[in-house]
Amino acid sequence: MTEPYQGLPDQSADPLVETSRRTMITGVSAAALFAPAVAGWATQAQAQAAASAEDEAFMKLALDEARQGDYPFGTVITKDGVLWASGHNSGRTEQDPTAHGEMVAIRNFLTKHSAADLAGTTLYTTGEPCAMCMGAILWSGISRLVFAASVDQMATKIDQIMISSAALAEVAKFAPISITGGVLADEAMALFE
Ligand SMILES: [Zn+2]
Repeated sequence: MTEPYQGLPDQSADPLVETSRRTMITGVSAAALFAPAVAGWATQAQAQAAASAEDEAFMKLALDEARQGDYPFGTVITKDGVLWASGHNSGRTEQDPTAHGEMVAIRNFLTKHSAADLAGTTLYTTGEPCAMCMGAILWSGISRLVFAASVDQMATKIDQIMISSAALAEVAKFAPISITGGVLADEAMALFE
């Protein structure tokens, strides 16, 4: 079952987002708030940090990337408010099942920058990262993840490995990461129509 997240326009009135803001301000980790016994987006949302207008602007770039993909998934990586790298799904074109938008963006980043430069970056992606991509994000030491459509939402349209980014972050204590979900989720889901 999917519990659609209503996205940014309603966030000011959304108690989950209020919880999220407190999460960000107090620096409580996703691990501290994640409750695996309770399924669904509401639980995941408690681990989210609040989104900003800048988040929407970069997510729009990620959506532009997604429109160029074999499958509609796009990613941009930013640091200090500047675009550093981008990528989109090229699994069919490249005959590479690992060529998800996030993986491609990280590889593109590394063609121009050092791995150490990944610290302090934010990765924006139109679909919540799969287990492979979230593993790569955690191993990369990326500081913040912002996604549009959730795994639960995308599962209504396309096969998904049914585990959330927050659940994976929870079991990777070595890689603290801030997660914000639901940014322009409706636009991302529309790419599947
Ligand atoms: Zn992936």
